[in-house]
Amino acid sequence: MGNNHFENQGIIKVSPLAEMLNYQGHYGEYGGTYVPPSLESKLKELSDFFDKITKSVDFQEEFVEILKDFVGRPSSLYLAKNLSKYVGAKIYLKREDLNHTGSHKINNAIGQILVAQKMGVKEIIAETGAGQHGVATATVCAFLGLKCKIFMGAVDIKRQALNVRRMQNLGAEVIACISGNQTLKDAVDEALKYYIENPKSYYLLGSHVGPHPYPKMVGYFQSVIGNEAKQQILQKEGRLPDSIIACLGGGSNAIGLFSAFLEDKEVKIYGAEGGGEDTPHNTAATLNYGKPIVFQGSYSYCLVDDNGIPIASKSIAAGLDYPGISPQHAYLKDTKRVEYHSVTDKEAIEAYKLLSRLEGITPAIESSHAIALAMKLMKDTNQLVIVNLSGRGDKDLERDV
Ligand SMILES: *Cc1c(COP(=O)(O)O)cnc(C)c1O
Repeated sequence: MGNNHFENQGIIKVSPLAEMLNYQGHYGEYGGTYVPPSLESKLKELSDFFDKITKSVDFQEEFVEILKDFVGRPSSLYLAKNLSKYVGAKIYLKREDLNHTGSHKINNAIGQILVAQKMGVKEIIAETGAGQHGVATATVCAFLGLKCKIFMGAVDIKRQALNVRRMQNLGAEVIACISGNQTLKDAVDEALKYYIENPKSYYLLGSHVGPHPYPKMVGYFQSVIGNEAKQQILQKEGRLPDSIIACLGGGSNAIGLFSAFLEDKEVKIYGAEGGGEDTPHNTAATLNYGKPIVFQGSYSYCLVDDNGIPIASKSIAAGLDYPGISPQHAYLKDTKRVEYHSVTDKEAIEAYKLLSRLEGITPAIESSHAIALAMKLMKDTNQLVIVNLSGRGDKDLERDV
């Protein structure tokens, strides 16, 4: 299955690093499969099936063709001239906001639903925070003819009303989660519970979190972002970027961009966490404020109280409002390959307005955290930079950001 296979089709190969394929569920001490035995055997089966199916050329061709014709990939790498001038650095935006359904989440939804379909699954369930993953999932289910149930915190249902209507319009059933804080963490809990109780369903996790093999699968399907960006920057600039930047909720758009550059030591890598108000109890900056614990099936950093119990995160961005984080980002933090910064709500709102006015691009409030970090760290550095614009901001217009 040569790489040429994909390059010939005008879309950049989805070929993960050897390291990613050999991955057995642990990044250093992080990751693993901390779930009940019944679920453990199901996940083991899923992992084996995934390893097998992703090696098949037919599967890869089908995935790439859908990315190309249905999603509109490759997404452009756009030189933001006005932003560059304003900041004093040469800034390219990786335009995941241009994808069908408006964010990077569709890459993963297509990949996992294809896997599920090949396994003979008839019902897809998923959790959603901002509603972006729910919309992406409902979209792909409609397109591939599968039943779809979306679990969503009742608070998020209120603050993302338009996306709820979009999901329902696509034929999905949206289930309100009224436990806990009624946000993303609670939606994950209820979706996991349903998955355990309904063995014929397939749980489509939307971020780089949860038990093995989810981080492996999500990282694989999102690696198309970094593979494309790397080829595009080499074509446009003839060299690698000095720095790359992405925002983190669970960490999927960030790992999607980062994975292609991890072995290029000269490329500096920065992650922007949802800092909220940047205090220990009003934040979603898990890597800055959290501690490693077992949480939702995996060992990684998590926001906890003084007794080590997970607490609710707080961020203006629904897609970043999650107390857990990807085990690979935990590892990249500890090994210092990536620097993770906390970006406040206020800084994100400023970047949201600024990019809209300077470039005619309204970013998702999540992505605005990455823009804000670029504005801060790249100020007058003249560096060559790629910022991942993970999604578009239409969904945020109704709020007073
Ligand atoms: C969901 C979402 C995020 C955060 O999720 P990750 O898994 O960390 O990428 C970021 N940006 C947008 C637009 C999103 O919808």
